[in-house]
Amino acid sequence: MKVRRGQSNAGRGSSLAGGLACAALTLGGLAVVAMAPGQGAGRWAGVAMLALAVPGWARLIWQGLIAAPLHALEQALERLARDELDQPCAPLPGRRFAPMGLALERVRARLAERRTLLAENRYNAYLAQHDGLTGLPNRLQFAVQIDAEIAAAQARGGRVAAVMIDIDRFKHINDRFGHEAGDAVLRGAASSVQAVLRSGEGLARFGGDEFAAFKRLDGGADELEAFLSRIEAALCAPIDSHGATIRPQVSIGYSLWPEDTTRREQLINNADLAMYRAKAGRARKRLRYDPEMDERARRRGALVDELAGAGTRGELSVFYQPQHHVDGTLLGYEALLRWTHPQLGAIGPAEFVPLAEETGLIHDLGNWVLNEACHAAMQLPPLLSMAVNVSAVQLADPALPRRVRAALATSGLAPARLELEITETALAANRDRALAVLAQLRALGVRIAIDDFGVGYSSLDTVSVYPVDKIKIDRCFIHDFVTHRASRSLVAAIISIGQSLGVPVLAEGVESESQLALARELGCNAVQGFLFGQPQPLALILALGQAGALGARRRWTG
Ligand code: C2E
Ligand code: MG
Ligand code: MG
Repeated sequence: MKVRRGQSNAGRGSSLAGGLACAALTLGGLAVVAMAPGQGAGRWAGVAMLALAVPGWARLIWQGLIAAPLHALEQALERLARDELDQPCAPLPGRRFAPMGLALERVRARLAERRTLLAENRYNAYLAQHDGLTGLPNRLQFAVQIDAEIAAAQARGGRVAAVMIDIDRFKHINDRFGHEAGDAVLRGAASSVQAVLRSGEGLARFGGDEFAAFKRLDGGADELEAFLSRIEAALCAPIDSHGATIRPQVSIGYSLWPEDTTRREQLINNADLAMYRAKAGRARKRLRYDPEMDERARRRGALVDELAGAGTRGELSVFYQPQHHVDGTLLGYEALLRWTHPQLGAIGPAEFVPLAEETGLIHDLGNWVLNEACHAAMQLPPLLSMAVNVSAVQLADPALPRRVRAALATSGLAPARLELEITETALAANRDRALAVLAQLRALGVRIAIDDFGVGYSSLDTVSVYPVDKIKIDRCFIHDFVTHRASRSLVAAIISIGQSLGVPVLAEGVESESQLALARELGCNAVQGFLFGQPQPLALILALGQAGALGARRRWTG
């Protein structure tokens, strides 16, 4: 291009010089002819000068009318051939070539438009197969990849594992650290896993915090375990975002082709089911699909359908479990919801409360328990407290303080006798909102206990941020704290936190004298558990006169 431009400049220079020479010859010739009279030699010299100018003029006319437009046309075509479509074509010189220049510009514009469309289509095709945030394959592309892997395994006689992965409490990460941090976690997790993937392995993002992976299995039993450990370590690597270090945790479910199923959709569904089981469980965060999980999923579906009408059919009731001071004094009761299903029998709240939370039924159920418990407390001696569980979903409801006030008003219960038990997970789920709601609840005069303390994300943080009146140590720590030093140290640490903050600590799940003795020795203030009593209906408690038992009576009388 540069060379050509040089050439055309030189050409332009030479045609200017040629033009001047022609003009000089013509003017000179005319002047000589005019000044030389008759047929003299001077006149012939003038004619010769004019004759000499003719080819020069002819060349100049050719240059201007034909060669220059043709050169411009050639250059424009060359630019199109090189795909240089962004600048419009310059008009071609001369009237004769102007329409051709316009046609050329139309061709350029059309080609530019097609190129943009093509790029958009390619991008759309990319987007149709990939996740925009992480650049990982999406669900559709994952299906194509795992299908290919399954077909290859079928041909070779190999196996394939489908793996579903979910980041635990991702909502909490978003709420606590912000959505940018949430995005950083997802991108970081994706790139960390991609960096450790090997041949025959793949990772995709299905949406939200849900990832899927597959692994070709040709080797021994530990091949899959090694793969799962590798991706889990990559996913759980700490991520720094906006000054905070986030340590994600994940739940993993997996299923094997062809042992568990030979259908791809079923394989992924199985892994998904196993992942949800892993997430719901307290201990194992990595589970293989088990056909029994299908049965659980079916039961879950049936319970969701039936829970809505359970209250009106009279299948729900509230039981009360005593809470004692370590010296044996009865302090009060905790209200615990019960569902007696006509066919399935007793269904525990640990199973149906999460379903009620998912479906939103918890608002009505929780409100009903609250009112029942307040009325029950009015039938118990006036020094006894009544604890009611409040779920994370209820805590997020702006109507909760109003409902609590209404329950106190209709029952006539003194606010100080009502204690709302809120898990630290629920508190951490939306810190700012939780703080505002807790402030309103405490302004009513009710007390707040942190339930299941120690099993959440950020226990220390919880007690230092939220104004609470009681800490309830989760029963999983009490279960083995007599025999396991680690549990004992944890319980001792929680008690010392409570002591330093001036907040009484209650040990949940005390079943034996040795547990009671140790709780007392470590400095626990209160206890609750089967050693003191199972949850019972109010009528039974009243009939047996348990509420007026020794401890409580001792406290009334001072
Ligand atoms: P939670 O609030 O921590 O309640 C204590 C649970 O531990 C109760 O289980 C109780 O029966 C059980 N428990 C008490 N002492 C012992 C013991 O010595 N050993 C053992 N192994 N267990 C003991 P439950 O009634 O099955 O309730 C389970 C969970 O369901 C409760 O845990 C609470 O989180 C939830 N829940 C129960 N009722 C309600 C309710 O009305 N509303 C809400 N939102 N949640 C509820
Ligand atoms: Mg509780
Ligand atoms: Mg508890």
